[in-house]
Amino acid sequence: MDVDTIRALADAQAGYASEAYRWLHRHPELSYQEVETARYVAEQLRSLDLEPRIGVGRPGEHGVVAVLGADRPGPAVALRADMDALPLEEATNLPWQSQRPGVMHACGHDAHTAILLATAAALRHVERDHPRSLVGPVVLLFQPAEEQEPGGALGMIEAGVLNSPPVAAVFGLHQSPLLDTGTVGLAVGARSAAADDFTLTIRGCGGHAAWPHRTVDPVVVAAHVVTALQAVVSRQAPPTNAAVVTVATIHGGTKDNIIPDEVVMTGTVRTLVPELRDAMPQRIESLAQGIAAGFGAEATLDYAWGYPVLVNDAAMTALSERAAIRALGESQVVEAEPVLGAEDFAYFLEQRPGCFATLGVGVPSIPLEERPTGHSARFSLDEAALPVGVAYYIAVLDEWARTQQPPPQPSPVATGEGAKPSPRRSGGTIGGPAPYDPAAAVPSMSAAWSAGLGLR
Ligand SMILES: [Zn+2]
Ligand SMILES: [Zn+2]
Repeated sequence: MDVDTIRALADAQAGYASEAYRWLHRHPELSYQEVETARYVAEQLRSLDLEPRIGVGRPGEHGVVAVLGADRPGPAVALRADMDALPLEEATNLPWQSQRPGVMHACGHDAHTAILLATAAALRHVERDHPRSLVGPVVLLFQPAEEQEPGGALGMIEAGVLNSPPVAAVFGLHQSPLLDTGTVGLAVGARSAAADDFTLTIRGCGGHAAWPHRTVDPVVVAAHVVTALQAVVSRQAPPTNAAVVTVATIHGGTKDNIIPDEVVMTGTVRTLVPELRDAMPQRIESLAQGIAAGFGAEATLDYAWGYPVLVNDAAMTALSERAAIRALGESQVVEAEPVLGAEDFAYFLEQRPGCFATLGVGVPSIPLEERPTGHSARFSLDEAALPVGVAYYIAVLDEWARTQQPPPQPSPVATGEGAKPSPRRSGGTIGGPAPYDPAAAVPSMSAAWSAGLGLR
């Protein structure tokens, strides 16, 4: 499909996408509570003559799955949207603002869901009018509970959504108001961080604050530990590997003249490299224990593994880049910086190759510093970005179909006078035909997709 066709298919769904987005925005539900949202999504899918499964996930979870073109030959592709909202009192004054006190779609998951519904609607037209742009089934994953661990992705994977039909690649997107509407950001490799939490307990021996020499003061030990932990990133992690260790809470003591027995600290660790991630608990623990021991105190560490590093597959990111360029234009596709936030789409990418893109939803006329970001009570997004997301997904599927189609047969090899080097062989010898090389004449599809497609 050419760019005009893709954009026309997407733009035809702009009204529907906006309607779905506003309904979802008015009716936000917290993680693990997406009952009405799932019902709405299922109704919409049924109206497209799809047969959604609901309640997909661990017991009590509200995932929705539908398969478009279940009988279509070829490997399946999955597209994923998340559906949950956040505990925030909305302060946007939008006409469609949240009708639920204290709950708000402040991370754009309403937009992700609306985009995937509108994509499903557009794909019905693609099936009819452009059948060659689809190969294999398209699995639509509406995932609950992205915002709260353990996250809804694991339950859906355990429920087998990647196995029947067998999914070969998985794609998703997340909004960002820091990119203008009409743009897509792509990161090769690590795109968002692993997020692990810890609780550090410093145990000393309390007593009167005026007789500190009769105590082991865990407050002083905790202060040294917090300071020392800054060196885990600055002195122990390779400077090229971004990481974060944040102590976010410290609790200890009851009164200004009592030294407490213990201080409890909690924090988060973010890493973009799995090896560094694995090393973190031991580094934090040995540092805290060493410092505590020096003061005669004890430190114990509880470490909770959270979402893993989200790693975009190189070939699938190249495919996404080609799709985005075709749907939006070359200048509209930017290289995205990895972020130290976390996203449970990472679990899907541990199972299958794929790509998680960033969709620009910032109103271009609003200066960057005035755009509220996600998780803000003032967060809002540009609805004009919804059909852009649809166009991106249609183009991804179209690119996928191209990769799956049999490569063109080489034309019979001309010999002698008039023989020309294959145009694909840019390295052909000047002054005569290059020796025939079938591999060069018909490159493997994976080589064709990865060659020269590096992100800028
Ligand atoms: Zn979020
Ligand atoms: Zn989010």
